[in-house]
Amino acid sequence: MPETPNRPIRKVLIANRGEIAVRVARACRDLGIVAVAVYSDADRGAMHVREADEAYHLGAARAAESYLSEERLLRVLRESGADAVHPGYGFFAENAGFARAVVEAGAVWVGPPPHAIEVMGDKISSRVAAAAAGVPPVPGTEEALTGPAEVVRFGEQHGWPVAIKAAFGGGGRGMRVVASAEEAAHALESAQRESVAAFGRPECYLEKYLAWPRHIEVQVLADGFGNVVHLGTRDCSVQRRHQKLIEEAPAPSLPDGLAQAMGEAAVKVARACGYVNAGTVELIYQDGAFYFLEMNTRLQVEHPVTEMVTGMDLVVLQLMVASGEPLAFTQEDVTISGHAIEVRVNAEDPAGGRFNPTPGPVDRFRVPGGPWLRTDAGYESGDTVSQHYDNLLAKIVAWGPDRDTARRRLLRALQEVEVEGVATTVPAQAVVLDHPDFSEVRHSTTWLSELDLSELPPSGPAVAGPGALRKTVDVEVGGRHYEVSVWLPPGFSGLAGATEGGPAPGAADTMVAGDGTVVAPMQGTVVKVLVAPGDPVKAGQPVCVLEAMKMENSIVAGTTGNVAEVRVGPGSSVGTGDILVVVDPAQDGA
Ligand code: ADP
Ligand code: ADP
Ligand code: MG
Repeated sequence: MPETPNRPIRKVLIANRGEIAVRVARACRDLGIVAVAVYSDADRGAMHVREADEAYHLGAARAAESYLSEERLLRVLRESGADAVHPGYGFFAENAGFARAVVEAGAVWVGPPPHAIEVMGDKISSRVAAAAAGVPPVPGTEEALTGPAEVVRFGEQHGWPVAIKAAFGGGGRGMRVVASAEEAAHALESAQRESVAAFGRPECYLEKYLAWPRHIEVQVLADGFGNVVHLGTRDCSVQRRHQKLIEEAPAPSLPDGLAQAMGEAAVKVARACGYVNAGTVELIYQDGAFYFLEMNTRLQVEHPVTEMVTGMDLVVLQLMVASGEPLAFTQEDVTISGHAIEVRVNAEDPAGGRFNPTPGPVDRFRVPGGPWLRTDAGYESGDTVSQHYDNLLAKIVAWGPDRDTARRRLLRALQEVEVEGVATTVPAQAVVLDHPDFSEVRHSTTWLSELDLSELPPSGPAVAGPGALRKTVDVEVGGRHYEVSVWLPPGFSGLAGATEGGPAPGAADTMVAGDGTVVAPMQGTVVKVLVAPGDPVKAGQPVCVLEAMKMENSIVAGTTGNVAEVRVGPGSSVGTGDILVVVDPAQDGA
């Protein structure tokens, strides 16, 4: 009995935003399926709304009142007459309850059966399922932690460092690396706090923390008739804060037969949980051995690199499988051709390796061109990266017959990219692509954090400090044309003909007022306060840690003096411009 009855899909509600919603809308339109977009107050007229056939308003900018409101999405499902829901990634993509509600409403869920989401969504139960399928997980525990003593015991038995991981974590969040027994209690508390804030549940478990691994994953695809295939490997080892920045397919420089073994392991895991549709089995690889890390029961951000080397459209295949069609090919038909590399263009300032989020208006976005290049963007010139959501601006992918051709083509493409208004990760990615450790595959998941990024060229206005403007000026010297970037102080307006970069959008360490009030540069949650009333502080000293846009940001004092007032505590939700701490400026000479 097929799990999915044959049911042609005519109209798809895309329960997401940004580049992935645009990506899904394009596949729908290629197939002649009507694409229905949804949007929040912050996304009226956003690119994903412009690219869809119809669009429905959900609610306020806060995700809980829009993209994470089950009730509002189900209402749009009814009102629009859509017969299927594609969740994209993030938001409700790995939420079994929402998938069930969609099916109960009579629509097709373009994703795996809710049961498979449940088994794999909990990292503890997914480790048990993988082990039972004969794919060993990273050495670790299979029960929720009850206290720091267990962390200490595990570390003493298996060696430090140890990773504390949130069972319901994702997107790089809810994980702490513990280097010694002394750090255990604090790290557990902080992992649980982050997990409750982001995922609503505190359960954590332990894994041995591998020191120099590569992140290698396998794309799988299954239909409702028991056919399961894999579409090869991807290497996503270039990461910051356990989040991917550059991905490629296939994983390079593996010993003979290993990619094949990884593919077979992934198929076993998929079969073990009754998987249907597209999914990814993530593995961690070190010293010739690989372990099960987790399974993502959805389409992944980096799926285009697999599309480039297989020639398959994964979203089209997702829709076909969801409508009840069998896969039209077998494992033997899957061939990997050439090599593809993707960079995630995030609105973040990579200066000094800090990768501070820089939401704000994108005054200009020039997309690269040329053969064998693909750009999947969620924004065009004039759009705004909201502080409320993920800051992925676009993905740029290059294909080549071999890895080095793809690498050089992508590097050239990055030189063509121009983004004004927000800083982006592009300068850091260009450094990586040009680095011999990357081109010779000597990197690991922790390699980027050790790379010196202090010399990065300015990538946007945020790096120039509060209120500064970047202007690009054309000059001619001896008949030769030059383009020169200059940083101007706030308020400067005397340079005719220059392109305005816009004011600093407020990187975490630049949003400080001169009068001693320290304000939140963006909406977020205070996770730690580092000062108390009466404490002396110096300008530039961190006063609290704010979690926003998936990252912990140090908020610094703008003035030297004494702390007069602390207005927030751990867990406080703050909005842009809210006062966090008030500093009594020191008198001259103090
Ligand atoms: P998420 O759900 O946040 O994606 P993962 O379990 O996939 O969580 O881990 C994210 C990243 O963290 C991995 O890609 C890897 O770089 C790192 N990581 C996770 N577990 C370990 C481990 N046991 N040892 C070393 N690195 C790890
Ligand atoms: P991928 O492996 O597809 O690259 P990531 O772990 O980088 O996945 O996550 C992709 C995006 O999806 C993240 O940027 C985040 O916005 C979102 N995301 C992933 N997992 C979760 C989760 N469990 N809860 C909420 N958002 C998530
Ligand atoms: Mg992962």
